[in-house]
Amino acid sequence: MSLEHVTVTGGGVLGSQIAYQSAFKGKAVIIYDINDEAIAQVKKRVNGLRDSYKNDIKATDGQFDAGLGRLSFTTDLASAVADADLVIEAVPERPSIKHGLYQNLAKMAPERTIFTSNSSTYVPSTYMEDTGRPDRFLNLHFANQVWKNNTAEIMGSPKTDPAIYQQVVQYAREIGMVPIELKKEQPGYVLNTLLIPLLDAGSYLWGQDIADPHTIDKTWMIGTGAPMGPFGIMDLVGLRTCYNITKEQQGDDPKAQPYLEKMKAMLDEGKLGRESGEGFYHY
Ligand code: NAD
Repeated sequence: MSLEHVTVTGGGVLGSQIAYQSAFKGKAVIIYDINDEAIAQVKKRVNGLRDSYKNDIKATDGQFDAGLGRLSFTTDLASAVADADLVIEAVPERPSIKHGLYQNLAKMAPERTIFTSNSSTYVPSTYMEDTGRPDRFLNLHFANQVWKNNTAEIMGSPKTDPAIYQQVVQYAREIGMVPIELKKEQPGYVLNTLLIPLLDAGSYLWGQDIADPHTIDKTWMIGTGAPMGPFGIMDLVGLRTCYNITKEQQGDDPKAQPYLEKMKAMLDEGKLGRESGEGFYHY
């Protein structure tokens, strides 16, 4: 069965993109957010996507507007999910907020409704019992700029029904994503499980003054044919995010201190990566 009526809870950076992409591809989408102020922000984010769709995927104004026409907004959770085939959760990465939302959804959504989470760091087992339907719950994880970074990582818990999992794989395809199917729970999914050790290894080489960032990137790019090396990727992600994650995960590791200090110095100089026009490279 194709999933046509979709509710996205939380219209932030990712929720607004997921909702619009779904509507752009023909789904009837409702975005739920907490209050009128939040909804005003959501509308701004969605309307702000027009240039990206025009420039990056050559959508016409007519096509973009047709997508907008399939999108609606509400602050009433019960009505938002009353007819939902699929709920995509994209609320902040704070367990108290996610647990509370799933407990409410469990009471309000029809039995048939499938729930998915866009969580970057929590596996579905974390929230499955809150949903009242662990067999119909799994993670569907998008990447920022969903219209062009179009992988959707799909990860069930041990309790997810394989048929439901496949319905979500199909949904991902229908909205233009390349489904990445995980067979087991894995924090970081496939992409970050690969990417984070690469970024750490690059940082280590830099921290120990073994080679400079441009040399390290060049080695990786020529050696593998990749379009960017670890430092180009860090500029794209943003140095602030890279520093915060590294500090949280490796703050006590003596091997990490030299590169944490170097990253901190860059932040103090305002070199945040692409967003500030300078990081390891100039933009
Ligand atoms: P965000 O802070 O930009 O947006 C969160 C939205 O949720 C806001 O609009 C907020 O008003 C709303 N919200 C807060 N409490 C709510 C509630 N109780 N019910 C409904 N809405 C509520 O966050 P984001 O960056 O879009 O991240 C959302 C989720 O997506 C997180 O789980 C994050 O891990 C994941 N994610 C983010 C990215 C990214 O690049 N930002 C990428 C992949 C996955």
